[in-house]
Amino acid sequence: MAAEAGGAAGKRRIMCVGLVCLDIISVVKDFPAEDSETRCLSQRWQRGGNASNSCTVLSLLGAPCAFMGSLAPGPAADFIAADFQRRGVDTAHVAWHPRGDVPCACCLVNATSGSRTIVLHDTNLPDLTARHFERVDLSQYKWIHFEARNAAEQSAMLDRVERHNRAAAPGRRVRISVEVFISKDLAQHFGYLSAPEALQGLRGRIQPGATLICAWAEEGADALGPDGELVHSDAFPPETLVDTLGAGDTFNAAVIFALAEGRTLQDALTFGCQIAGRKCGIQGFDGIV
Ligand code: ADP
Repeated sequence: MAAEAGGAAGKRRIMCVGLVCLDIISVVKDFPAEDSETRCLSQRWQRGGNASNSCTVLSLLGAPCAFMGSLAPGPAADFIAADFQRRGVDTAHVAWHPRGDVPCACCLVNATSGSRTIVLHDTNLPDLTARHFERVDLSQYKWIHFEARNAAEQSAMLDRVERHNRAAAPGRRVRISVEVFISKDLAQHFGYLSAPEALQGLRGRIQPGATLICAWAEEGADALGPDGELVHSDAFPPETLVDTLGAGDTFNAAVIFALAEGRTLQDALTFGCQIAGRKCGIQGFDGIV
């Protein structure tokens, strides 16, 4: 995740832009064999998607927040909209499409190891565009987090925020973070075997003043600050790992929350790992704070 330096914390909100989907989760005791039929321990519907999960966590941390992404009317969207409301997440900027299917992920959470296996169907639902984003009153937000998708449209959205920031007083700027996923395979292809190696390798690709943050599961997280300082936090493993679904989203939200409050990069990283670790010890998100 890369966060750009900018304005101060205030009453303004945090917005997360990205995907919302329906997660249909089966909690299993043991991972099933292919072509087998087994019973699971429990089953639940959960509002999912990276940006959507981060909103859940921000809300639980007490930060006013908003979600922006695409939805299409139907039973899945009804469930999702009700859940956003239950969490107090503002959805005024959701792009409602008359046609298309809301993405759905079938997830197996192994309660013995905490692993999560996700099968997501990328449906025909159109992605959010820069035109949708033009309607956002940027002065209401102190931080906008983008889950990287649809690069061409998102770079136009980022340009808009940067234009706004150039014209705004320092305390009214919108801080930006972008989550970029690099798969383990790709990281290894580049020769990065750890978070610090990945940060060093990527440092030349980010703009001056930016912060680069890299989470690495049970090894915690590392970050490269705007002045080139490297910081690290160990993970905070729970007594029992039961559900790692959304650990990364939890980490992102907690880091953003802490940085938006003006805490140091080291503090934010440690806080992110603490909250994410707590999340790994419980099913879902209730109980992370
Ligand atoms: P995701 O796969 O959901 O993107 P990550 O693997 O990047 O999540 O982990 C994000 C953060 O969650 C880590 O920095 C760490 O703090 C916490 N975390 C994830 N897995 C574990 C684990 N097995 N034990 C303890 N903490 C974990």
